[in-house]
Amino acid sequence: MTRDGRIPFNWPYMTGKELYYIAQSHFNGRLAGDGPFTQRCHAWLESRSGCHQALLTHSCTAALEMAALLLDIAPGDEVVMPSYTFVSTANAFVLRGAVPVFVDIRSDTLNLDEGLLEAAITERTRAIVAVHYAGVACEMDAITAIAARHRIKVVEDAAQGVLASYKGRALGSIGDLGTYSFHETKNLIAGEGGALLVNDPRLAARAEVIREKGTDRSRYFRGEVDRYTWQDLGSSFLPGELIAAFLWAQFEDAEHITAARHQGWSRYHELLAPLASAGALRRPVVPEACGHNAHMYYVVLPDGTDRDAVLEACRSQGVFPVFHYVPLHDSPAGRRFGRSSGALPVTESLAGRVVRLPLWVGIGEDEQNRVVRALAGALGG
Ligand SMILES: *Cc1c(COP(=O)(O)O)cnc(C)c1O
Repeated sequence: MTRDGRIPFNWPYMTGKELYYIAQSHFNGRLAGDGPFTQRCHAWLESRSGCHQALLTHSCTAALEMAALLLDIAPGDEVVMPSYTFVSTANAFVLRGAVPVFVDIRSDTLNLDEGLLEAAITERTRAIVAVHYAGVACEMDAITAIAARHRIKVVEDAAQGVLASYKGRALGSIGDLGTYSFHETKNLIAGEGGALLVNDPRLAARAEVIREKGTDRSRYFRGEVDRYTWQDLGSSFLPGELIAAFLWAQFEDAEHITAARHQGWSRYHELLAPLASAGALRRPVVPEACGHNAHMYYVVLPDGTDRDAVLEACRSQGVFPVFHYVPLHDSPAGRRFGRSSGALPVTESLAGRVVRLPLWVGIGEDEQNRVVRALAGALGG
């Protein structure tokens, strides 16, 4: 392992058993999707999250696209979501012709502000997408109550939320549908990968069809029908067994991976306490109801700080923090396809001040000290 003394923001962790399981698939000659490793991954996701049905996908993006198809999102429909999120949250619904309606975020968790939802809902609203930023839950009780009152659906973009919880319930298992990501930068990884969690049992049969090119092939494999035919809209959303085999090794080690990330997260939290009390930055806030998964350690710089200069000063010390996201309402496609519900002052203020620190399984104390020193130096402390 060489990083040339650099401290990147991410360093993918592998358990050591990934290739062993891939070799098993290879020797079994079982390479297409929904083989034994996929089945194991589904069972693990179902037992760990409590969802009705879990389905592996190519990515969280693919799972979000499946969610849009499953909810019959159609041209002119509106889907309420934060602007401060990854593009796929919106794109999946825009692909069905829907209009993303962007709401502002809370200044503590950077999650959508549930207090602004009512004002964003119109007769055309079909769904709310709750994005659990940094694996810290949105205020789901309020969100699901508002959705129920308006008879609209809730999709949880829990891309960052694997093994995190809200009032004891797994993120992704609370809305009608939930989505996970196993992208290389997430907690549990498969390079590219994801899952759709189906919580409303009425959506389960159709979810299988949509994922299998619009056919009932899943039922055919179970011996429930004697041939499979074209039943509905769909595409190829399922990954092959090699991806599932890799992912299984990660699932087996999930507790250790999460615990190791928590160790790094908590160390940053302690190391940064003096800078926080001096007002040089703000640390993440985790509300009482949220069991987070240490997906991300970020800091918020004070208003007026030149973030680019801070990032550049860190890089000159070999430390590579990153920033995200460019708010969707302020991006070319977001302006073309979406609209904002009211002003988004918190999003506009905070999006330019977030700095995400290097965090991965096995980051050393020395490395974290170096990150904090570089940050302190960059902030003139
Ligand atoms: C990573 C991420 C995605 C996309 O996940 P992929 O698996 O790369 O498609 C979507 N939404 C959020 C909030 C994410 O962090």
